[in-house]
Amino acid sequence: MPEIRIASEAGACYGVERALGLVEAAADERAGAVHTLGPLIHNPRVVAGLAARGVDAVSSPEEAAGDTLLLRTHGTVPDEEARARELCARVLDATCPFVKKVHQAAERLSREGYQVVVVGEAGHPEVEATLPHAPGAIVVGSAEEAARVPHARKVGVVVQTTARRALLAEVVGALLGRAEEVRVINTICEATSGHQAAADELASEADVMVVIGGRNSANTTRLAEISAARCPRTHHVEGDDELDASWFEGAGVIGITAGASTPASQIEAVRSAIERLVGGR
Ligand code: SF4
Repeated sequence: MPEIRIASEAGACYGVERALGLVEAAADERAGAVHTLGPLIHNPRVVAGLAARGVDAVSSPEEAAGDTLLLRTHGTVPDEEARARELCARVLDATCPFVKKVHQAAERLSREGYQVVVVGEAGHPEVEATLPHAPGAIVVGSAEEAARVPHARKVGVVVQTTARRALLAEVVGALLGRAEEVRVINTICEATSGHQAAADELASEADVMVVIGGRNSANTTRLAEISAARCPRTHHVEGDDELDASWFEGAGVIGITAGASTPASQIEAVRSAIERLVGGR
């Protein structure tokens, strides 16, 4: 009978719990229509659940004019936020405070004359929302890209909250040859790094790993990569209905971890579904 273990740190983080609390309170009030600017979090199942309660995702503040609008956890570009405050009856800011720290760090470095480098995924909403805080900032997603950053006297580095620590180290190593001064403000969120360390530890002991969370979730994808590096039998699922009994054949230890946008109820649903499939203890 395989043993099922859940990573010591897994699932919904402070920022996601806070955002879900805000949106649920707004929906419960029933004081007019409630929207989120883009998907509130990167978890399609949670977003579908909100839609079923009448909270839909809009793509611009104009679509929510006169209503209540929630700004998503991974941040909003300042221009969009200004339009939201002008057009909407009420704006609830669900931006995670740790994401705001990235914006503030980028602003400070830019003000102090650093060429700002944002380590992260180009096009990710959090990165896109960070760029306007440091005009001229460059997004770098790998050591190879860092090696192509134009030479500058002072380079200041901030990091997407969900980036891997190893990526930050590689990029900083490459930047050392590109500037006289490299200043790093490590804005990787502790929830993210804690999840990553716990996933790494569990994956090194497990025969099979199941990683739960949206396929569009950057931090869940990182957990799947970290798990797969230790445990080749790693599977990334969004919910319990995707599990396949054949994954667990011959496994002694089955590990479960989950991204920062995965509520506890989804982890429990997957855990009990695996238990039913394998008769685990
Ligand atoms: S992972 Fe960290 S930065 Fe992202 S929403 Fe959660 S607490 Fe905030």
